[in-house]
Amino acid sequence: MRHRLTVVLSQAQGKHPARRGLEESIVAALIMESGLDVSVIPHLYDLTPEHTGRMFLESIGGDMVLLSWLFPRAAFWIMDRDGITGKWGETQLKPPADDDDEEEAGEAQAPKGIGSVSVRDRSIYCLDLRDFNQPDPYITEIRRLAAESKARAEEKERQKAASKPQMVELGLPSLNGSNGAASHGLNGLNGVSLNGLNGKHEAPVFTPEDLVKPAARRWYPVIDYSRCTNCLECVDFCLFGVYGIDGQERILVENQDNCKKGCPACSRVCPEQAIIFPDYKTPAIAGAPVGVIGNLKIDLSRLFGGDAKDALSQAVEERDRELVADGRSAVGTEVGMPKRQTGKEATAKDALDNLADALDDLDL
Ligand code: SF4
Ligand code: SF4
Repeated sequence: MRHRLTVVLSQAQGKHPARRGLEESIVAALIMESGLDVSVIPHLYDLTPEHTGRMFLESIGGDMVLLSWLFPRAAFWIMDRDGITGKWGETQLKPPADDDDEEEAGEAQAPKGIGSVSVRDRSIYCLDLRDFNQPDPYITEIRRLAAESKARAEEKERQKAASKPQMVELGLPSLNGSNGAASHGLNGLNGVSLNGLNGKHEAPVFTPEDLVKPAARRWYPVIDYSRCTNCLECVDFCLFGVYGIDGQERILVENQDNCKKGCPACSRVCPEQAIIFPDYKTPAIAGAPVGVIGNLKIDLSRLFGGDAKDALSQAVEERDRELVADGRSAVGTEVGMPKRQTGKEATAKDALDNLADALDDLDL
């Protein structure tokens, strides 16, 4: 079977001409490329479970490249929450400024989060469309990823064949390209998406018009499980029923749309910077990279507005404002902040500790 890499471009919100121009240039350059299936969906964060774009993403079975106007960490964990799982695909496409950061950064911290569950055996590469104004860097990287993905698939096939020499080819029809004719990966754009199907079910059909149907803006927290330690402070803090616990006693964003639009309060109280609001203006909250000293310095100062104590009081203020808007009473620091407010058993390394450590490391 010919290997194909799925490329999904998640559009910007609104109709910003420069952003649309970049999106169209990338798609135009890749659409006829052999070995790629290129599709366009609305802004990933806004997709509801009923949106065709979401269903299309769920139908993709193999490696995927997702281009979006989001930090890669945010895009990856939005999909993970929706069951579109895979391994984090490392990309060589870095924004120019990252070179300096790496020099200053030193050793990256090993992730200590609880991780995702039921992760599919495939790679998901997330590229940030804000990194470059021109299409070329994206096109070059996607071609490289396509070759990498193909080589990995071929190696898997070799290993499979070596371990099961008796397997008989069943002669199932190839689903990619559907009829064996030369295919240029137009699925999603020519109305047929056969990705991810293995012959057991009839292929769903996604028309390009359905895929890009407008999606109303949404607002909800996204958990980065590579950082989340399941301390459950966010469950205690949120008084709007957004968070829950799943069957494995893990934190879960259960009722996404209960969250209060524009409010990022709980992201300020998470000790691990594991809560992302992808559309928030501050990079540290919107999912900018964390975990290395250089970025930690930048992220925390932005997150806390220069004073660590402000983060907590800001979160309390934001929560109180939403409570009052709901016709409820403000609670201040009386509810949902036991560890932080009493200072008891502060075993979990919280954000204040992180800030202090960062300052120590910087020797200021
Ligand atoms: S507060 Fe942060 S680390 Fe703790 S459970 Fe919530 S998301 Fe995870
Ligand atoms: S921002 Fe506010 S309403 Fe939304 S999840 Fe966090 S604490 Fe709850």
